Amino acid sequence: MKKILLSTVFSFVFVMPGWAEEVVVPVDAAAEKVQPVIKETADGVVKVMQEEAAPAYVQEVSADVQVVKAAPAAGDHAPADEGHDDMDVGTMAVEHHGAAQAHWGYSGAGAAPYWGTLDGSYGLCASGQEQSPVNIAKFLQEDVPDIMPSYKPSSLEVVNNGHTIQVNYDAGSGFEADGVNYNLLQLHFHTPSEHYLDGAPYPMEMHLVHKAEDGTLGVIGVMMKIGEHNPVIEGVWQNAPIEAGGSKHIDSVEINAADLMPASLEYYKYDGSLTTPPCSEGVHWHVLKEPIELSEMQLKAFQALFPVNARPVQPLNDRVITGD
Ligand SMILES: [Zn+2]
Repeated sequence: MKKILLSTVFSFVFVMPGWAEEVVVPVDAAAEKVQPVIKETADGVVKVMQEEAAPAYVQEVSADVQVVKAAPAAGDHAPADEGHDDMDVGTMAVEHHGAAQAHWGYSGAGAAPYWGTLDGSYGLCASGQEQSPVNIAKFLQEDVPDIMPSYKPSSLEVVNNGHTIQVNYDAGSGFEADGVNYNLLQLHFHTPSEHYLDGAPYPMEMHLVHKAEDGTLGVIGVMMKIGEHNPVIEGVWQNAPIEAGGSKHIDSVEINAADLMPASLEYYKYDGSLTTPPCSEGVHWHVLKEPIELSEMQLKAFQALFPVNARPVQPLNDRVITGD
């Protein structure tokens, strides 16, 4: 165990089990030469301060690292700069509320293969026959309804829910497809991508979660590849709370989902599920063919908080994926 101090307010204890399972490294991280340094300012804003040579950190992160928020103890306040040299924010991915209850996550006892048994309401995660994500390796070529977006700017509300960074979106935006209006609720991110295209993941995937009037969920999945610095992503990352459960609402900053769409809205269509517990089915998936870009440093910044937060691909069973 080692204790570090992230700020003058919060401290975390890293619990490293003695065993290690194979760590899934979403990109060729071991070969990376640089790594962003994530720091939290006094008002909770996460900043990418600089790049440093630190090639080994991803390999050091156990797939079963848990982050436990230490109870503040009198006389237990280390100097603000203590531990920064070996501070490893890369392990801050797994929400952990207490030892007595298993919580879902992406590693260890709460990992995806066990979701179905963690809670009575999570049964579909194990028994469902139309689960997401899937590997989109082949599809039936036919006309699919156009996605007609009507995204407007929203004030920026960013939440760290312990599983991802999520942007809650103001009402009044969405898309129409096949005569159905879907209202955008929130967007969030996974690394690596949850859907595979032709057998391989992208470094990241964004999910725009929408709900129709009848309650049907419609999700647009947008693949994200390494490329140009993405200024919209920058605005989200800079305001992302570093602590699980943290939330920031910044009225003065706007985000427009339209700015996160690729030029082409061609997509693969299939019916699936939420990719997180309770894994509810009946979700209309629209996985865009064209990816958007973010910089390598921006990917690393997200992975510093969430090294891996993707559910493995699920059996397609007798479903058919369609696309133009
Ligand atoms: Zn998602």
